[in-house]
Amino acid sequence: MRNLLISAFAILAFSACAPAAQSEIARTDFVLGTVCSIRLIEGGSTKTTDEIFQRLRQIEDRMSANKDGTEIAAVNAAAGKAAVRVSEDTFFVISKAVEYAKLAKGAFDPTVGPLVKLWNIGTDYARVPQKSEIAAALKLIDYRKVELDPKSQTVRLPIPGMKLDLGAIAKGYSADEVAKILEKHKVKAAVVDLGGNVLVFGKKKDGSQWRVGVQDPRSERGEYIGLVSGGAMTVVTSGVYERFFIQDGKRYHHILDTKTGYPVDNGLISVSIITESSIDADALSTSVFALGLENGMKLVNSLPDVHAIFIDEKNKVYLSPGTNKMFTMTNSAYTLSD
Ligand code: ADP
Ligand code: MG
Repeated sequence: MRNLLISAFAILAFSACAPAAQSEIARTDFVLGTVCSIRLIEGGSTKTTDEIFQRLRQIEDRMSANKDGTEIAAVNAAAGKAAVRVSEDTFFVISKAVEYAKLAKGAFDPTVGPLVKLWNIGTDYARVPQKSEIAAALKLIDYRKVELDPKSQTVRLPIPGMKLDLGAIAKGYSADEVAKILEKHKVKAAVVDLGGNVLVFGKKKDGSQWRVGVQDPRSERGEYIGLVSGGAMTVVTSGVYERFFIQDGKRYHHILDTKTGYPVDNGLISVSIITESSIDADALSTSVFALGLENGMKLVNSLPDVHAIFIDEKNKVYLSPGTNKMFTMTNSAYTLSD
């Protein structure tokens, strides 16, 4: 929580480099389990930001796996039993998550819930589970078993104990939904930051390009390794720094390997995805991180208009083809691979 707050303030400070115009409206709140901030640079009003935060709370109330009374909690509680009717929102996000699970061959899997609950990373109860507990949780993870019925808009998990967790995709969906509200209110330029899931919207008045900082995965202070420049886009990062705990000197982070049941351990420390749609970027940042440099790069290259920045534990930075045109490194602790 402390880290999240600090990084949010650092992002605010960074984007406030240019002198703020009088009319700018900014609001920061804790929602979706993280610090979310919206900056309306041109256009919109406090009505816009009110509507945005209402919508973010609605998405949280539907999709959180960590809160009672959500649609996901209802689907999980009915595992092995009934199909549960959910909102259009939730049905769409689960469907997208299953699509990405297929693309990532299960390295990304929205049925990772039992494993997430076991590790409890990001809560005060985080701990290394017993091997037997991990084995039991792994048996419940399989996106192919999720039963989705578009006609009745219902979801069913066939095995008792199965649990959905949309933590790797819901913030991306939320950012796209914020963009819809910005459009509706005819906002011309805005910055959306949902816990590091960044979306820059519209065009700045002075015609200059957007510049989005790529989080330094080794820093807890919201420092950057470099800047992505361009038009409207989203930049989403998955890394070992966002949520983790340390036990017996070993660090455990929150992206879990659906094969071993332990945090992904493939030499990468972060992956940033740059593209148009934030739900795609969010699902992909987790998927590509879990797939690793080689297979992750293959997946990125198979998709149109998707760019990626990989960082490994030796502080080497790998760019997908064409990303060098939009990315400038600014941090000398990292080196660009050729
Ligand atoms: P963040 O939420 O920090 O931006 P991610 O988008 O990468 O990071 O999502 C990580 C979250 O996704 C975890 O906290 C957990 O809830 C969930 N998760 C962990 N491992 C996986 C996985 N292999 N597939 C899908 N979701 C996962
Ligand atoms: Mg993600």
